[in-house]
Amino acid sequence: MSKLTTLLRYFSTPTRYRSRDSITKLQNKAVLKHIRFVRKNSKFYAKLWSGYRDDQWREFPIIDKTQMMDNLQDLITVDLDINEAKKLALEAESSRDFSSKIGPYTIGFSSGTSGYRGMHIVSEAEQAAWAGFMLARGLGSSIFSKKRIGLVLRANSNTYESVGSKRINFLFYDLMKPLEELHQSILNDELDMLICPPSVLSYFVDMNSQLRVERMVSVAEVLEATDRKKIEAHFGITLHQFYSSTEGEIGATCEYGKLHLNEGIMVVQKEWIDQEKGWYHPIITDFRRKTQPIIRYKLNDILVAAKEPCPCGDAREVIDSVMGRSDDMFHLTKHDGTTELVVPDLIRRAIMQMSDKITDYIAIQKSVNHVEIQLKPDNIESLSMIGFDNLWQSKGIQSPQIDVKPYTHIPSTTKLRRIYRDFK
Ligand SMILES: [Zn+2]
Repeated sequence: MSKLTTLLRYFSTPTRYRSRDSITKLQNKAVLKHIRFVRKNSKFYAKLWSGYRDDQWREFPIIDKTQMMDNLQDLITVDLDINEAKKLALEAESSRDFSSKIGPYTIGFSSGTSGYRGMHIVSEAEQAAWAGFMLARGLGSSIFSKKRIGLVLRANSNTYESVGSKRINFLFYDLMKPLEELHQSILNDELDMLICPPSVLSYFVDMNSQLRVERMVSVAEVLEATDRKKIEAHFGITLHQFYSSTEGEIGATCEYGKLHLNEGIMVVQKEWIDQEKGWYHPIITDFRRKTQPIIRYKLNDILVAAKEPCPCGDAREVIDSVMGRSDDMFHLTKHDGTTELVVPDLIRRAIMQMSDKITDYIAIQKSVNHVEIQLKPDNIESLSMIGFDNLWQSKGIQSPQIDVKPYTHIPSTTKLRRIYRDFK
């Protein structure tokens, strides 16, 4: 049954949409149908939307992760004990046995890096459909050719195994293993496609990996331009990208390597941070997820809208990059004593101006007036602070103390966050 769902979804997922109009029509029809179902089956949403008509869905109250997690029991549309689900997810995480399910539902925790961890509950049908969608977006060639696909992930979910067949073979690599060992098994397995977090790919480059695959896809972490260039140059291929979170599959790259929003399965509205620069928080409405509906849900991520349409001709919106999350923003003090927020992108640019020898970096705001910057290699001479000086000056910010230290991050089960704030 689930294999059939996967195949149906694979064939029903168009590789491109011709016009914005066709996307809007498809979305409106699908959302209205979905809203009727959710209103009937989710206590939380029914209450939240009281006073709104279905066709006002674009203006429904926005929810976030905290609201979702606080109300999860009433939010889900199925009969499932959330406390039992929490227990199972924790056990799965420590035992690395990810087959734990309650009835037909798989329970997982998101790999959150700080604070609130997200929990996601998906049905078998949703998983199978999801796998079909990912195959359609990610495979780049027919489902009928033989493929060995390797996945390097922090936590396995049986999602991927659900599409294992005679032709498509999924191999799972556990990030808990030492990376050298993991790299060796990947080499031995002679993969056609590798799906892997960019920090691990970058580490493979550093160890001068001789790995060769037809297709490489970055997942689970924000792919930064520096990493992308480095990985593409070393392996001599276009690095593709799945941009996803617990809340859904938000985007995937086309053949040109441009990141298109997955508007065929969700609506992405914009909460502008800076419209001129194209920066916004996405508010997503996934019209396929029924077990744990995600409607008018605001993500912490900051996306950068592309200025130009993509040459591939797909009408789905393109984003230039995912800048990070709002807790990645630095909170600094202006000369007048008020607080100024600085997005990670500006910090990144200032770091890049310190030296052209930098291959890796991490910047942590430790307190209101203290920033730590870790650089690799650690013996770079004559670092320039001009980028930072200009940044502070143009924003009227009191210069914080900047400490430069050696780079300490080792790719592991911890998600790499290059720029973040380490205090409330
Ligand atoms: Zn494109």
